[in-house]
Amino acid sequence: MTMRPIDFPVELDGSDGEGGGQILRTGLALSMITQRPLSITKIRARRPKPGLMRQHLACVQAARDVCGATVEGDVLGSTSLQFTPGPVKAGRYGFAIASAGSCMLLLQTLLPALLLADDASEIELSGGTHNPMAPPFHFIEQTLAPLVTRLGGRLDLELRRCGFYPAGGGSVLARITPGPLVPFDLMERGAALDRAALCLAPALARNVAQRELETLASLLGWPQEQLQLLPARQNEGPGNALMARLAYEHVTELITVIGEKSVPAESVAHSLVDEVRRYLVHTAPVGEHLADQLALLMALACWKSGRPAAFACTGITPHTRTNCAVIERFLMPLRIEIDPAQVLRITP
Ligand code: ATP
Repeated sequence: MTMRPIDFPVELDGSDGEGGGQILRTGLALSMITQRPLSITKIRARRPKPGLMRQHLACVQAARDVCGATVEGDVLGSTSLQFTPGPVKAGRYGFAIASAGSCMLLLQTLLPALLLADDASEIELSGGTHNPMAPPFHFIEQTLAPLVTRLGGRLDLELRRCGFYPAGGGSVLARITPGPLVPFDLMERGAALDRAALCLAPALARNVAQRELETLASLLGWPQEQLQLLPARQNEGPGNALMARLAYEHVTELITVIGEKSVPAESVAHSLVDEVRRYLVHTAPVGEHLADQLALLMALACWKSGRPAAFACTGITPHTRTNCAVIERFLMPLRIEIDPAQVLRITP
């Protein structure tokens, strides 16, 4: 007997929990994977400008193109959306986000479904690569991608040009290779391997990067050889991101602060140092941002393989809780529990 796909939609309330764009992106990803239609209302109701902004609409359109979905409500400002997916098609795609919307959030929308597709995919993305409130390119490359490899897939990335707010114009090539995903426990960082401060400051006065790196070095006591000014490419910028990479045996944390026009270089360095110190006082491997992003990929590996997994986090944000609630709605009876020690336990 052939199983009929479940065709009544999963209904999400976009004002639940964090009430931001993450509910939409995770909903789209899981709709593509489970082939269940998604109906979402009150999109981004807890944001100052609710509804679909340009970058959210780009995520909806990209998800539609990758699975041939039928969509209603896919216009700028829309606060509700019906998304009826078709089969996910691996292949070559190109997506551009007009404005400096984050192309890494677009990748976040497509990655889970393409990691479970039956062939490899190549996606050319253009838009913002280092945006506030979004995973910067280097975070996806150095923190998330190695964990994708450990799960059994691959995410290979090439940064062709950086894109910063407001000009955008960044360009990234992402190659996604599926594999049978198998979950794992991530409870410890393991031995400390290496650390570095990385600064991107294309089309800015050279002393901006110097002041940021010097301030960071003096506050953290890091020697000169751990400071890197990353080279600018042609037609890049202006923009600024100051990053700290903390590499351990089992995880690499990449912490970023995006510089802004009216914020002095020293303040950018101080903000980054505060975040680095916050990570270093903990022993858990999974930082706050990684937690919500890893939850979905790990849950899919548990769902596919029928095996449980757990990972220890430095903190649990409303984002992570909201994301876990959306995941449970689609992958029932899979359960995600967060214990008082901030360990996230997934049971398929
Ligand atoms: P909006 O509703 O405006 O779209 P949003 O709520 O979707 O906002 P956020 O949820 O704040 O946007 O962030 C989206 C994603 O970006 C989350 O997965 C979050 O973990 C990730 N993120 C944000 N900042 C960072 C950072 N500095 N490093 C890594 N990931 C980040």
